Amino acid sequence: MTTAPSSVLEAGHREIVDSFESFVRRELVPLAADLPGNGDLPPADLRSYVRGRSARLGFYAADHPEELGGSGMPFTAVVLLHHAAGRSGCPLAPYALAGSDGPSPLLRQGTPEQIERYLVPLVRGEATRCLALTEPDAGSDAFRLSSTATRREDGGWVLRGRKTFVSNAGHADFALVIAEAKSEGGGGPTAFVVDMDHPRLRVGQRYAGMSGEELYELVLDDVELPADAVVGGEAGVGAALAHGIDSLSRGRLVVAAMCNGISEYALRLGVEYARERRAFGERIGAYQHVQEHLVTGRAETEAAKLLTLACARLVDEGVEAPENAALAKLTASETAVRVVDRALRVHGATGWVRGHPLEFLYRYVRMMTIVEGTSEIQKVIVARAMGLG
Ligand SMILES: Cc1cc2nc3c(=O)[nH]c(=O)nc-3n(C[C@H](O)[C@H](O)[C@H](O)COP(=O)(O)OP(=O)(O)OC[C@H]3O[C@@H](n4cnc5c(N)ncnc54)[C@H](O)[C@@H]3O)c2cc1C
Repeated sequence: MTTAPSSVLEAGHREIVDSFESFVRRELVPLAADLPGNGDLPPADLRSYVRGRSARLGFYAADHPEELGGSGMPFTAVVLLHHAAGRSGCPLAPYALAGSDGPSPLLRQGTPEQIERYLVPLVRGEATRCLALTEPDAGSDAFRLSSTATRREDGGWVLRGRKTFVSNAGHADFALVIAEAKSEGGGGPTAFVVDMDHPRLRVGQRYAGMSGEELYELVLDDVELPADAVVGGEAGVGAALAHGIDSLSRGRLVVAAMCNGISEYALRLGVEYARERRAFGERIGAYQHVQEHLVTGRAETEAAKLLTLACARLVDEGVEAPENAALAKLTASETAVRVVDRALRVHGATGWVRGHPLEFLYRYVRMMTIVEGTSEIQKVIVARAMGLG
């Protein structure tokens, strides 16, 4: 295959991507050999080791400034690392990069004390967190919250409510909890930092999903917090909506990049198999119905990758339009679901067998159309930006 069009947007970051790929090949692939191969979450101590090692090598949370423990890399480079993690097919590679348990852009709005105590350990890979936003009656409509934060007379807060589908709550060091603040001085959706060992914060039921993620219920049973638990201090009261929109854009581009990498990996498996497997006296890759799966998959993947990288480049240039991230996430996640399905079809029964990478990816990739806002919600964002609705 000649040079791919998207390589134009990769230029300038090739060295760091090569170096990350070499780390994955040399260190993570051998470690992953002992995993069961069914797509279960790798053990917490292994994930912690991978995170710490990657942070020491400068890959983890690399777009954070050096004074916070990052490498000061452009966001485009980080997006390319997530792409490389997906493309590697190594089940440990995603844990070498900061995801939904890593540094949250919400904490960039934190007070200096919060940045030091909570953000820096996340950037260094020494701690993890969870984000508790979703509730039984507030999913896509995320800020119609029933969880409340009531101000005490001494300026502190009491949190009450129930959060659902919270990733990493069973392993995190602290939670970022979004609750509706009620106080005389003002209110609205507000982010609080709550240590996971708080006696009134309870991890409830665990939701076993299709694959790869463990989600939990979090119960806020009169969680008493000091005044300085509000992210950003007093200015942060009622500010979670504005801060949340900013942080989601980057998270969505990271998900898009991971999806594009998964699509490339699935296509590679499909092409390799189609070149070898024979039916009716021919290699199956010679049949146009098989080519259709792989060529259309390639066209859609390349388009999604170009879109994602262009949006990441715009972020580096200071343009962080939510509709751009929504377009990229919508396109890349839906493409990955289709491409993995196409690659599995090319493999016939072989790809359906437990232990085959496509069997796992078929279950794993589906969550990408839900996390960070469903595909329908990405369309709502784009429609609004088009002046519709
Ligand atoms: C793997 C995984 C990890 C997650 N991690 C976290 C986490 O760490 N923290 C957290 O707080 N949450 C997390 N979530 C929850 C996730 O954010 C929500 O599931 C998601 O926002 C959708 O909400 P919902 O499931 O309640 O669906 P609903 O909002 O009930 O939506 C149901 C259906 O209606 C559609 N819909 C809703 N509103 C509209 C509209 N206006 N227009 C068109 N269609 C609409 C949706 O697209 C969907 O198809 C996670 C979910 C998954 C699957």
